[in-house]
Amino acid sequence: MALKDYIRDFIKLIYPDNCPACGRILLENDNFLCTKCRFDLPLTNFHLEKDNIVEQIFWGRTTIERATSLLFFQKKSRYQKLIHQLKYKGKKEIGFELGVLLGSQLKKSDWIKNIDYIIPVPLHPKRQKKRGYNQSEWIGKGLEEQLGIPQITDCLVRTKHTETQTKKSKAERWENVSSIFTVQNESFITNKSILLIDDVLTTGATIESCAQTILDEKKGGKVYIATIGYAKA
Ligand SMILES: [Zn+2]
Repeated sequence: MALKDYIRDFIKLIYPDNCPACGRILLENDNFLCTKCRFDLPLTNFHLEKDNIVEQIFWGRTTIERATSLLFFQKKSRYQKLIHQLKYKGKKEIGFELGVLLGSQLKKSDWIKNIDYIIPVPLHPKRQKKRGYNQSEWIGKGLEEQLGIPQITDCLVRTKHTETQTKKSKAERWENVSSIFTVQNESFITNKSILLIDDVLTTGATIESCAQTILDEKKGGKVYIATIGYAKA
């Protein structure tokens, strides 16, 4: 065993890692989540199901090729805790790990090979500065690593700083997200198939607005959607 492995094991002995979902101490062979949380993941398998309920959300609203979420999301569940830490506690590496998980599932779909670029839903620069990172971009980094598809973060830009969505009615949320994104360097995504990614999908309004912006700017492109969680609106 190399010296650095000894040192790593020694550090782990004193400061063991905890499962970010349930808090149990991780065992030697656990990676990111403990065995139980990995086993219990509420996977949707929507990437294998055409016309699934996430795709249905966009029917009659915008043209989405395929859409999926990795997990069913329930309030106060262990898995919601993961997203909470990712968004509000500075744990950006959780995004990376969730992206790797999502990527390992998407590999099994028949449509992932169509994708040219991954684009994360952008935060407004002000919010990103405050948070220090865009959580969706970190999910994208994990996806990029798992799938070998490049992520681009300088094409789709958020131009309006919207208030937090959670206290608004559905109609107000719609109003709130119409035309808040813009595309720059549009030649880059002309005729390309884009996988838009976000942390949690609820009404789909934000991600729809992104899709609409991409499709408006350039004809011929195609939009696919993947998120970590799907929460019923
Ligand atoms: Zn756990």
